[in-house]
Amino acid sequence: MEKTEVVIIGAGVVGLALAQRLSRTGTGVVVVERCDSFGRETSSRNSEVIHAGFYYPSGSLKAQLCTEGNRLLYDFCREHAIPHRRLGKLLVALSQEDEKAVNALFMQGAANGVEGLAILDEKGVARLEPSLPGRTGMFSPSTGILDTHAFMKRLEQIASGQGVIFAYNCEAIAVNRMNGRYEIAVADTDGSTLTLSCGVVINAAGLGADRIASLAGIDPDLAGYRIRFCKGEYFEVAPRHRGKLSHLVYPAPSAISLGIHCVIGLDGNLKLGPNAFFVDSINYGVDPAHGKEFFRAGRTLFPFIEESDLSPGMAGIRPKLQGNGESFRDFVIRDERERGLPGFINLVGIESPGLTASLAIAKYVESLLSPGA
Ligand SMILES: Cc1cc2nc3c(=O)[nH]c(=O)nc-3n(C[C@H](O)[C@H](O)[C@H](O)COP(=O)(O)OP(=O)(O)OC[C@H]3O[C@@H](n4cnc5c(N)ncnc54)[C@H](O)[C@@H]3O)c2cc1C
Repeated sequence: MEKTEVVIIGAGVVGLALAQRLSRTGTGVVVVERCDSFGRETSSRNSEVIHAGFYYPSGSLKAQLCTEGNRLLYDFCREHAIPHRRLGKLLVALSQEDEKAVNALFMQGAANGVEGLAILDEKGVARLEPSLPGRTGMFSPSTGILDTHAFMKRLEQIASGQGVIFAYNCEAIAVNRMNGRYEIAVADTDGSTLTLSCGVVINAAGLGADRIASLAGIDPDLAGYRIRFCKGEYFEVAPRHRGKLSHLVYPAPSAISLGIHCVIGLDGNLKLGPNAFFVDSINYGVDPAHGKEFFRAGRTLFPFIEESDLSPGMAGIRPKLQGNGESFRDFVIRDERERGLPGFINLVGIESPGLTASLAIAKYVESLLSPGA
């Protein structure tokens, strides 16, 4: 049996941020990841947007960790030369109801400490995006985009340099509490198993986080940790529209997603997405028949788009705690000592803005592990 201080289950952006943070002081950390490298699941299947933090109810972890994570992420990108652009985002109102929703987000953003938000009249919107005439909206200057792969790669490099061991192709299959420590059984791809003994376990398993919690003896349904898979597909916009928009452009959000919006890649190409629908299993295919839905949604915001401009892109799956028709659910980030599992840290439901918040999540978990430090 191998001994270490901390085992992190999952090498998505959150597991990597945790590994980098916790190993700074020489703590022994092993990261166990079932895929053959880091960031193979949700962390590389998203919009790569650095959110500002105005979408989430004030006082929630999502609001707190997104606004803090936004600042930490820009600092990290500057310090480590990670490609990024602080483009700014325009939230566009398409109806009077949308205008009310946008005004409410402006107030919420101000309460969450988001800097520089501005309500815009039609002239203000047209000045920023001349191809969107006749709309009002809100501008968020601190929203941006980044190269997520470069960010994760740098986190992995720093963590490795600080002594973190990354065990790829290794799936956590059992968690037991023995003599005040945890034993994590791990199976590799050729079927051999290994047991790791540690004092702290961090469950950063993304879409598999409810399963890891249940391996530790927590009933995900009773605890409210059951994850629902909520798929989001993207459609690429023909390169002839490259450069047509200078800012990220979003509609007013719906209850389960931010709405089909226009994402600008660091290469200047545009894509529309993601839509949002619940699925029973993980499958990253994009249904070409959904092109019509994207065209309808896209066309209302971006009149220059033709149906033939759209082609299926990639898809990601949100690890949602909130089911269809249910109200807001916050990130679950907690030490399960009240359940008799001290030092077992669950991170469940880390959907958007988990990428933006990743560095702040790592800081928050560190504070749970050493209160008062
Ligand atoms: C469509 C979409 C768009 C999004 N857009 C944005 C955005 O623009 N901005 C933003 O801030 N956020 C966005 N997000 C959210 C963001 O992508 C996630 O919050 C973030 O990637 C979560 O990272 P993670 O490390 O928690 O999870 P993951 O990246 O899913 O990593 C979890 C890892 O755990 C591993 N794992 C699971 N079970 C086991 C096991 N038993 N043993 C070993 N390993 C295991 C998995 O293989 C995986 O690598 C979006 C999400 C989606 C789906």
